[in-house]
Amino acid sequence: MTRLIDSPNAHLIADGNQYAPSLWSYQRRETIPVQIGDLYMGSDFPIRIQSMTTVDTMDTQGSIEQCIRMIDAGCELVRITAPSVKEAQNLENIRNGLRARGYHTPLVADIHFTPNAAELAARIVEKVRINPGNYADKKRFETIDYTDVSYQAELDRIRDKFLPLVKICKEYGTAMRIGTNHGSLSDRILSRYGDTPLGMVESALEFLRICEDEQYSNIVLSMKSSNTQVMVEAYRLLSKKLADGGFKAYPMHLGVTEAGEGEDGRIKSAVGIGTLLEDGLGDTIRVSLTEDPEFEIPVAQELVHRYEFRSAQSTPIEPVTIEKPYVSPINPFAHERRQTHEVANFGGHQVPRVIADFSQMPRIQMDDLKAIGHFYLPEPDKWAMNDLGADYIFTGKHAIDFMLPNGLKQIVNAAFWDGNAHVFPFFTWEEWCDAGNKHADLNFVLVEAEDITSISLSNNSNVILVIQSSNVHQMAALRRGFFALNQQNIQIPVVLKMAYPNVDENQLQLFAPTDAGGLLIDGFGDGIMLSMPYMQDKNALLNATAFGILQASRVRISKTEYISCPSCGRTLFDLQETTAKIRQVTDHLKGIKIGIMGCIVNGPGEMADADYGYVGIGKDKIALYKGQEVVKKSVPADSAVDELIALIKENGDWREPSINE
Ligand code: SF4
Repeated sequence: MTRLIDSPNAHLIADGNQYAPSLWSYQRRETIPVQIGDLYMGSDFPIRIQSMTTVDTMDTQGSIEQCIRMIDAGCELVRITAPSVKEAQNLENIRNGLRARGYHTPLVADIHFTPNAAELAARIVEKVRINPGNYADKKRFETIDYTDVSYQAELDRIRDKFLPLVKICKEYGTAMRIGTNHGSLSDRILSRYGDTPLGMVESALEFLRICEDEQYSNIVLSMKSSNTQVMVEAYRLLSKKLADGGFKAYPMHLGVTEAGEGEDGRIKSAVGIGTLLEDGLGDTIRVSLTEDPEFEIPVAQELVHRYEFRSAQSTPIEPVTIEKPYVSPINPFAHERRQTHEVANFGGHQVPRVIADFSQMPRIQMDDLKAIGHFYLPEPDKWAMNDLGADYIFTGKHAIDFMLPNGLKQIVNAAFWDGNAHVFPFFTWEEWCDAGNKHADLNFVLVEAEDITSISLSNNSNVILVIQSSNVHQMAALRRGFFALNQQNIQIPVVLKMAYPNVDENQLQLFAPTDAGGLLIDGFGDGIMLSMPYMQDKNALLNATAFGILQASRVRISKTEYISCPSCGRTLFDLQETTAKIRQVTDHLKGIKIGIMGCIVNGPGEMADADYGYVGIGKDKIALYKGQEVVKKSVPADSAVDELIALIKENGDWREPSINE
């Protein structure tokens, strides 16, 4: 099997920003195979779907039944938490129960802090997952000034703790995932590398070197975070560091931690996981939703099935010849927005804008605007807007016969534009080249991403480019368009236009984030316009998806963000019910991040990014956090949501919901 580093492009891959086999055509990153029981993982095999149980691991029958529901739904690998030796031991009963029912799906023991549980589990199940941030370290939140000698002494200490597990895995043929979590990096890594993608990668490499020294390579790696930018950058950096450092090309397990529930959880997972799948990274995925694990499986399957025929279906994309043809001209390991000049409220330092496409609606009425966040209130005769109020409405060839709200501006096809300065024309490229009548301040010009290298663009101060592509490998085609703009030093703001003619609503919420998320994470895109056929009843869905994508890519925050764990055998309260309760009373708090975590073991680390935290610490006992600090230590579960609201009020972040929320 060819390793990435051995491939014909190795000199280019090892040089510069290359992290994927190709930025132009869909290709899986070549990996070594990993064997997990009877299941093989890696680039020669389909991308595997996995999930994790939420039942207490000591509840043998409950765990078996839940595993079966997951496997029947299509789960190819089932992870079960083993917080201590007794749960690790009980994996044997669960495994035997499953075998007795005819289920041979490999099991994975999820380990944090407890090497002795890992060493036992590795003798029982097909794979163990360790977290390099807490396998040999307890968190003390200390910044330590290491010398090279004292750092090496730490690595020697880790080796002593970790080596027995490696030896057991080798002896028993057990696979391992070295699974870094952004939220639980060790003090050692944080002290030396900071809270960065590089720190995440180094955290895994410290353990990987020990495995390679022992000639043990039945390993999968992961770099999870609830922050999609950090997550994508860390996986890309991992790919590059493995290749540059002469490591074997290990398969990758992709996941966004604590993605949340419902629509937001799906969109956020698709932005993170989908972005990497587009570039051929990832050999197994887990979509973490705050829902029963069997509901994660169809979402994961939808994300993965898109790539089964991707290479055959997509039209080849011609590389943009920059200095080095295979190298990204932007930094794929750190988010930086493409530099643009400001045109109206697009580009520059403006947040990306949402354009609602109403062009298929012949008669638009006031009530139709509710779907895109604008509400007419007859009594005060005023318009109100919620947090998902679209910025522009594209009406094609149709007029609007009422006054639009101030926050919403109209765009029409250029052929139907009457010169009204409050309405903005939308041109095709050909129309634009021949147009005599143009708006003085703001014109939208549609171009195919593939044509950008062949048309003659200049840095007009009154133009927004709207780019689209019909290529099945749409993200790469649009990215090529941005590379071409970069090459020509064109700084016009760009709107991403994406049409989904043949998908259902569930698919839209996964495919659009996949296609747009990677571009936004790379700093490309000053606006987004989504469309589907027969859109009349889809306007609300398209609008919510567009705002959801911008939020999940962290380029425009318009609603409360929930970082809620998917729950597991450690969970101390009903996560789904509690999340729904918290959401119901806080979802008008735009821009606030609330962590809802099932346990104290991993919860605080996993919600590192949150402004407020709600963490289970014991039966019916909750700890409330402000940032990383516990401020209410042992609140009875019954009053914990009220106490959380009180805490938000005490910190000046509360506001009362408005009439439309
Ligand atoms: S934070 Fe949630 S998913 Fe993670 S270990 Fe605790 S209960 Fe399980």
